Amino acid sequence: MNGGSGGERRRAVVVGAGIAGLTAAVALRQRGWQVEVLERAGTVGPAGSGLSLWPNGLRGLDMIGAGPAVREQALSATEAGMRDPSGRWLARTDVSGVRERYGDLVMIHRTDLFEILRGALGDEPLRLGAAVESVQATSGGVLVRHSRGSSEADVLLGADGINSTVRGLHWPDAAPPAYAGYTAWRSIVRPGTPVCSGGETIGRGERFGIAPLRDGRVYFYGSATLPADAGSPGGELAELRRRFAGWHEPIPDLLAAADPATLLRHDIYELPRLGTYVRGRIALLGDAAHAMTPNLGQGANLAIEDAVTVAALLDRNRDIPSALTEYDRVRRARVEPLQRLSRRMGTALQMSWPPAVVIRDVVVRLTPMRTALRGLAPVLDWRPPS
Ligand SMILES: Cc1cc2nc3c(=O)[nH]c(=O)nc-3n(C[C@H](O)[C@H](O)[C@H](O)COP(=O)(O)OP(=O)(O)OC[C@H]3O[C@@H](n4cnc5c(N)ncnc54)[C@H](O)[C@@H]3O)c2cc1C
Repeated sequence: MNGGSGGERRRAVVVGAGIAGLTAAVALRQRGWQVEVLERAGTVGPAGSGLSLWPNGLRGLDMIGAGPAVREQALSATEAGMRDPSGRWLARTDVSGVRERYGDLVMIHRTDLFEILRGALGDEPLRLGAAVESVQATSGGVLVRHSRGSSEADVLLGADGINSTVRGLHWPDAAPPAYAGYTAWRSIVRPGTPVCSGGETIGRGERFGIAPLRDGRVYFYGSATLPADAGSPGGELAELRRRFAGWHEPIPDLLAAADPATLLRHDIYELPRLGTYVRGRIALLGDAAHAMTPNLGQGANLAIEDAVTVAALLDRNRDIPSALTEYDRVRRARVEPLQRLSRRMGTALQMSWPPAVVIRDVVVRLTPMRTALRGLAPVLDWRPPS
């Protein structure tokens, strides 16, 4: 164990090859660390869906040199905003205003982002099919046992998602993820007619989002207020069409192009606040630390922020526990308000009581764009640590 003295390469084990884990591993390797990434699955990369990357997340990706490739594979957001189910615009997002003020915002296929991150990491640090089973503190380090053997390191980064094993082992006091009250379907399709405008359409306890991708395909999602684990007896696509096929174009066209085999459905959960993201030489990143509802489109962006921040702090301070203490301080101050904001947005956007829906839509229509843009500042103005 080299634990921080002399010029030896320091070692990190990263649990999970999701966006948080891959970004952290790339950032640490670029700083000369020896890194091992343990991934339970046999492959890296998620099933088909899109991802919004905002100026804050893109700054994090720029920090590891992945920004240019991501921009090349992504589509810069064009027209966006909020509509009602008839298609009437309630608010239009001033996309060029956001870009001028804060920087690029793009939509990317998740698979493309994973390919870029995996390419930046290289194959050597990645151990697929390695499910972490136990994590033990040793004198000056950590010992990890997993399904392919064991690994030792100076620090362990738990980036293993909302149902994190690392959190379960070392945060036994943490409350389990809580159901947010709604479910979401997602898919990527190639529609019959090209789609140029994105945005979200809000109804009563239901929403539908559209995001064009770079190659003519379109990412869409639908959400509905429902009890957890509510099934769809007639099949998921039939349920989605039943709910949304009568909404404005191009929603019926997108649903007509959807393939039931690639349609994803997930009940939305969030992680109740953890008192700390760090215990000794173990730190949690991304959804393992702060899984949030997807209403702000920020979960992955904040995971990227976590990853580049922890790498910079570990590199700057050779005393690992104190570097991680600083990580915990800055990241909880940053993330906790956004987690609450995302929850509140979900409550407003999923409301179904008709009078409340009318008032909500009026408020959306009357909120000046300048106010909405200013409201984004705390989310998008983040700068990576130097
Ligand atoms: C419907 C929906 C839409 C969303 N849209 C957006 C969006 O547009 N923009 C955005 O920024 N965010 C969005 N998010 C949030 C975003 O998807 C997550 O915040 C992000 O993917 C979290 O990444 P992660 O690396 O922390 O975790 P994960 O992606 O969950 O990765 C965890 C990895 O750890 C592995 N693992 C788990 N357990 C073990 C173990 N014991 N041993 C080894 N490996 C293990 C898993 O296999 C997985 O590969 C959305 C979320 C949802 C549900």
